[in-house]
Amino acid sequence: MNLILLGMPGAGKGTQAEIIQKDFGIANISTGAMMREVSRSDTDLARKVQNYISSGTLVPNDIIIEMLVQRVGERDCEKGFLLDGFPRNLGQGQALDSANVAIDLVLYLSISEEEIVNRMSGRRVHPASGRSYHILYNPPKVDGFDDVTQEPLIQREDDAPEVIKKRLDVYYDETEPLLDFYRNKNLQFIEIDAAQSLDKVTKSIRESIAN
Ligand code: AMP
Repeated sequence: MNLILLGMPGAGKGTQAEIIQKDFGIANISTGAMMREVSRSDTDLARKVQNYISSGTLVPNDIIIEMLVQRVGERDCEKGFLLDGFPRNLGQGQALDSANVAIDLVLYLSISEEEIVNRMSGRRVHPASGRSYHILYNPPKVDGFDDVTQEPLIQREDDAPEVIKKRLDVYYDETEPLLDFYRNKNLQFIEIDAAQSLDKVTKSIRESIAN
């Protein structure tokens, strides 16, 4: 089972991806996490990537597509994989087709912009693992600290209000056209109301995958 999670930044894709990975034993591939990892090294590429992330714009396709296509060819993807944050534009969607990467199911986490701004401003992450919390909706056991390692949580720099706005603009311009791209394909496309509680969204996702 190869699946794609689509939806606005902040719709809950990362949180749900972690749960699905555990439940179904498939590889969880977050291109955002991959890019944050790349940005931490001391190279020209890292500095370029860091600039894209902090401004809320997309890393160019020639950098990201090759990395992703290589990643889905790795062994842990044999039983299936879940893409969180890829594809982000039509070029990336077409690149999956050209590389013969078969997709069985697209889950679209749909939500209003107002709710997104709410969620992103309350998001806190554990940088080393990518584990994500929300100060109200999904709080850690101890305020400000990761449940597993007890290390401090941070606010992502691209969750600052002006960067959130830019990321939403990029979503409407570049990512939203992928909804029709996948609706018109011969695969399962399921829309999930991502404004529901975290548990309800998980339940809807589990049912969609199991069916
Ligand atoms: P995310 O964690 O998915 O919100 O991604 C954080 C940032 O990483 C994005 O704002 C982009 O700068 C970059 N990024 C992640 N996935 C992609 C992608 N598929 N294409 C281009 N840039 C990406």
